[in-house]
Amino acid sequence: MSDKESNNNNDDNNFFNKNPLITFALFSVIIILLFKVVVGEGGGLGNETSQGNVRTKQVSYSKFKELVNTKSLSKVEIGQTYIKAKSADGQVYSTRIVPGDTKLIEELDKQGIEYTGFSETNWFTEMFGFLLPFLIIIAIWMFFAGRMQKSMGSGMLGMGNSKKMINSEKPKTKFDDVAGVEEAKEEVQEIVDFLKHPGRYVEIGAKIPKGVLLVGSPGTGKTLLAKAVAGEADVPFFSVSGSSFIEMFVGVGAARVRDLFEQAKKDAPSIIFIDEIDAIGKSRAAGGMMGGNDEREQTLNQLLAEMDGFGTDTPIIILAATNRPEILDSALLRPGRFDRQVLVDKPDFEGRIKILKVHMKNVKIDDDVEIEEVARLTAGLAGADLANIINEAALLAGRKSQKTVKQENLFESVERAIAGLSKKSRRINTKEKKIVAYHESGHALLAETTEGAKKVSKVSIVPRGLAALGYTLNKPEENRFMMQRNEMWAEVDVLLGGRAAEEVFIGEISTGAGNDLERATDIIKSMVQTYGMSDIAGLMVLEKSKQSFLGGGQQSSREYSEKMAENMDEFIKSSLNEHYASVIARLEEYKDAIEDMVALLYKKENITGEEVQEIIINFEKENNIDSKVHIVTDEIKEELKEDAKMTKTSKDEEENK
Ligand code: ADP
Ligand code: ZN
Repeated sequence: MSDKESNNNNDDNNFFNKNPLITFALFSVIIILLFKVVVGEGGGLGNETSQGNVRTKQVSYSKFKELVNTKSLSKVEIGQTYIKAKSADGQVYSTRIVPGDTKLIEELDKQGIEYTGFSETNWFTEMFGFLLPFLIIIAIWMFFAGRMQKSMGSGMLGMGNSKKMINSEKPKTKFDDVAGVEEAKEEVQEIVDFLKHPGRYVEIGAKIPKGVLLVGSPGTGKTLLAKAVAGEADVPFFSVSGSSFIEMFVGVGAARVRDLFEQAKKDAPSIIFIDEIDAIGKSRAAGGMMGGNDEREQTLNQLLAEMDGFGTDTPIIILAATNRPEILDSALLRPGRFDRQVLVDKPDFEGRIKILKVHMKNVKIDDDVEIEEVARLTAGLAGADLANIINEAALLAGRKSQKTVKQENLFESVERAIAGLSKKSRRINTKEKKIVAYHESGHALLAETTEGAKKVSKVSIVPRGLAALGYTLNKPEENRFMMQRNEMWAEVDVLLGGRAAEEVFIGEISTGAGNDLERATDIIKSMVQTYGMSDIAGLMVLEKSKQSFLGGGQQSSREYSEKMAENMDEFIKSSLNEHYASVIARLEEYKDAIEDMVALLYKKENITGEEVQEIIINFEKENNIDSKVHIVTDEIKEELKEDAKMTKTSKDEEENK
C-alpha cells in the first residue's frame, strides 16, 4: 500500500479539516483582499485619497476645468459627488463636483477626452453589505453548534483542534483498582501480556485481537478497566469519546480518527480507548429514519479503514465501551475489528464489598463501619455510584468536623444516592427482589431437572440495563443449529418455570413473565406450523418462513383453513396448560430446593450453575428422590466451559412493563 502518499495527502487535508475556524478566517481575508483589488481600484485611477503607488491630488473644481481646457487630461471618471481625472503624465486628480455645471460633458467631448462614469459607494458600506450575509450565516451556525454541543457534550472550542480532544496519558491505574469484575479482568489479561511482549506473539504468528468491546451499564468501570490495561502494560493510553467525533463539519470526525491512529501508531505499543462507541457505530439500518448521517458514516468508515489498515503485528489494541452492543453496526463486529466482547457487569454483593474497599483506601474510615451493610443496601448500583457514596459520606463527615467517616454518614449517603438514582436507573425494591429471586429460581430448577433442557450457567438478580430485573444464563449444550422435539418442549417448560414459581411461592403473578410466555407460545406455534411436530397439522407445513430480502422480518400469508387455525390455537392453549400444570407439580415437589436457591440468591445475588445443581442434588438425596438432574460428564463439562466463554447466549431477560 502506498502509505507515504496517502499520508501526505492526509497532512494537507488535515490542516484545513482540523482548523475550520482558521480556514474560515483565511478564506474571508482572501475574499476581502480580492474585493479591495477589484472594487477599490477597479476604476484604474486610484481612490479619492492617495493610495498605493498612485498619488491622487485634490484640486478645486476650477483648477479641474482649467486642466480640461488645457487638454492636459487623458481620462476622466465621473461619479455622483466627485470626479477623478488622469493627466497625460500619469498624475491623478480628484475634485468635488460643483452642482449645476451642465456643460462639463460637452467640454470633454470638445476636447476629445475619454470619460466614463463610476459608482462611488463608500468602501465601508460596500464591504459591510458584502459581509452581512456571511455574518448571518456564522451567527446561525454558532447557534446550532452551541446546541449540538450541549446535546453531545463536545466542545465547540475543541472543534478546531483534534489533538485537544484526544486524551493521551500514561495511566498509573492497575488491575487492583478495578474491583468486582474478575471475569472481565481475566479476559483482558491476555491483552496486557501482548502489549508487554508483542515480539513473542508476533514470532509465533498468533493472532491477537485488535478490537475489544467492553459492554456494560454506565459507571461499571469500563473506562477504568481500559486504563488499567494500559497501566498494567505500561503503555500510552489514547482516549476519545465517540460523541466528540460527531460535529457540525463533515470530515472533522474522520480527520480526528486518522489523527488518533497516527498518534497511537507513533507511540505503539499503545491502547486506544473509544468511549460511547455507539455514537458513531450505530447501525446504519437503525438510524435510517433520521436520514443519512454523513458525518457519522464517514467517521465510522474511517475507523473501519484504520482498523483494517494495520496488521496484527502492530501492537495497538482498541478498546471500546458501550452499554448497547445490540445497536452497533454489524460491520464493526466483524472479525479483525471488534470481534471480542467483554462483559463488565454490575457488581454483585461480593463485588460491591470489593469496590467499596478500593474506594475506602483513601478515606479515614471509623472502626464501627460495616462494609457488608453498605453493600447489602446498594444492590443494583454500579461502581461509580459506590465511589460516589464513599466520597459523599466523607464530605458529610467533614461538614460535621468528624475525624473519620462513620456508619451513619455512609447510610445517609446511600439514602441520597438511591433517592437520586431511583428515577434514573433500575434499582429493585425488596418486593421486586423477592419476585425476581423466585422467578429466576423457577427457571433454573426446570432447566436442571428437565431432560433436554439447556443447563444453567448463572442465575442473577442483579438488574441489568433498564429492562431486565434478573436473568438466567443457559449454556448451549453444544453449538447446534437443530433442536429435537423433546428439547423444544423442555425449553417451553423452562420458560414457564418462572411464572409458575411466582404463582406457587408468592401466590400472585406479575408482568415479569410476559416475554417468557410469548416465547413459549412461539415455540409451540412453530412446532405446529413449521416443523410438522404435532398431530394437528401432521406433516403439513402451514407457514413457510419467507426471509424477506432486506432482512426486514418475516412476512407470512395464511395458507390454511379457518378450522385449522382454530385447532392450532386450541392445541397451543391446551399444551401450554398441560405443561404449566406439570411445571407447577415439579416446583411443588422441589419446594425446599427453590427456597434454598432463593436464600443463596439473596445472599450472593449471582449464583453459578454448579451451585444450583448442588442444591438440587442435595435436596434429592435428603428426600430419597431419584435424581432428575441430567448428568454431564467431565469431558462435556470442559467443552461447556469453552462454549460458555465464547457464546454467552440464550439469556433470559424479563421485561418489566
Ligand atoms: P464507565 O466507563 O463504565 O462508565 P468508569 O470507568 O468511568 O465507568 O467509572 C467511573 C468511576 O467509578 C471510576 O473512575 C471509579 O472511581 C469508579 N468505578 C467504577 N467501576 C469500578 C470498579 N469496578 N472498581 C472500582 N471503581 C470503580
Ligand atoms: Zn423469566
